[in-house]
Amino acid sequence: MNILLIGSGGREHALAWSLSASPLCDRLFIAPGNPGTAQHGTNVVLDVTDHEAVIGFCRTTGIEFVVVGPEGPLVTGLVDDLKGAGIKAFGPDKAAAQLEGSKAFTKDLCAEFAIPTAAYRRFTDAETAKTYIRHYGVPIVVKADGLAAGKGVVVASSFEEAEEAVDMMLGGGFGTAGAEVVIEAFLEGEEASFFALCDGTTALPFGTAQDHKRVGDGDEGPNTGGMGAYSPAAVLTPELQARVMREIIEPTLAGMRARGTPYAGILYAGLMLTDKGPQLIEYNARFGDPETQVLLPRLKSDLVTALLAASDGVLGTISLQWSDEAALTVVMAAKGYPGPFEKGSEIRGIAEAEAMSDVLVFHAGTRQDGARILANGGRVLNVTAMGRTITEAQQRAYDAVAKIDWAEGFCRGDIGWRAVERERS
Ligand code: ATP
Repeated sequence: MNILLIGSGGREHALAWSLSASPLCDRLFIAPGNPGTAQHGTNVVLDVTDHEAVIGFCRTTGIEFVVVGPEGPLVTGLVDDLKGAGIKAFGPDKAAAQLEGSKAFTKDLCAEFAIPTAAYRRFTDAETAKTYIRHYGVPIVVKADGLAAGKGVVVASSFEEAEEAVDMMLGGGFGTAGAEVVIEAFLEGEEASFFALCDGTTALPFGTAQDHKRVGDGDEGPNTGGMGAYSPAAVLTPELQARVMREIIEPTLAGMRARGTPYAGILYAGLMLTDKGPQLIEYNARFGDPETQVLLPRLKSDLVTALLAASDGVLGTISLQWSDEAALTVVMAAKGYPGPFEKGSEIRGIAEAEAMSDVLVFHAGTRQDGARILANGGRVLNVTAMGRTITEAQQRAYDAVAKIDWAEGFCRGDIGWRAVERERS
């Protein structure tokens, strides 16, 4: 079958790599894609906010299956419109994508179906919110309800910080995404991500990962889209994973079904592992970036079969096989990121890194200029390696990074440190 993949990041390069390897995939198109996805299919220029244009492209190109990478098109209902036009699509419809699109929606679902998460209240009025904060105390967490590109959460350790966040969000700092805020209790513990492939009724575990959000070594400095990740996350023991399925994922699927908005797609749970057990911090309604770059190299089963089964509601008929190996990805970013950065510098040595065994280089923000690869974004490359342990994968990934000649770029030097420490002890 012909497949259309929507998106342009490192996640989409990993998805394109995996989808194109399937015996079920005849032709793969990626909109808009990047120079990395172009190695596995045909990049096309399409305005994905124009759903009719996407449907038109599918009809003229004989696309039978559309895989949506980023959250934006899910939240605006691209999957609903594709299905309405008789085209199969992977990802939740608009109503179900609210699990990512509205934090208030998800918190209410958790409350209704007894899913463990931080205690919370919702506010649209700044004075009422501030009175609540004074009454509750700090630390406390202030969140914009809607999508805010990963910047809509303030973990406040003082009243001033919490109140400033309330004023900024309810004052229109994030537009309509901040018209309502969720204020929730601060959770203590280690964070980890758990993925489940869902078909509305059934959920299959789809791996675990931990990422590094801060820009600097030792998890210091400002937040980013993610500077690296590794899988599996050993902190999520088989017992804890079973508990996450039982206490968080399955009740979420049952709750969404009971509300008449069944969830089909990948459900990405951001968890805090507290002394009371795993608690849900947030849901994402799509594959993680850069987590996908460490999940897919470990998947031994056919990705197209798995995603089709999820969208056809027949996940119960398949099982997924995973490699015992670990995977680790180091994000190479343009100097200055997450602040202002330059575009256009040349990157050399990618082929040398890719030639190493058990190494994959996924493109994120790159641009092809003849034979040259130029930096074209903040997060630019994801250098991924496999190994018997995280320690081995880390060593190999940094050996590959060393082959890449890009003076205008940088990366963290300690991706995976928590897992490496665990393996050492
Ligand atoms: P993302 O970039 O992951 O999409 P987001 O804007 O959707 O982020 P969350 O994942 O809800 O926001 O929160 C971002 C980060 O803030 C979390 O990864 C966690 O470190 C911290 N955080 C959120 N909620 C809490 C909480 N209740 N207690 C402690 N820390 C929290």
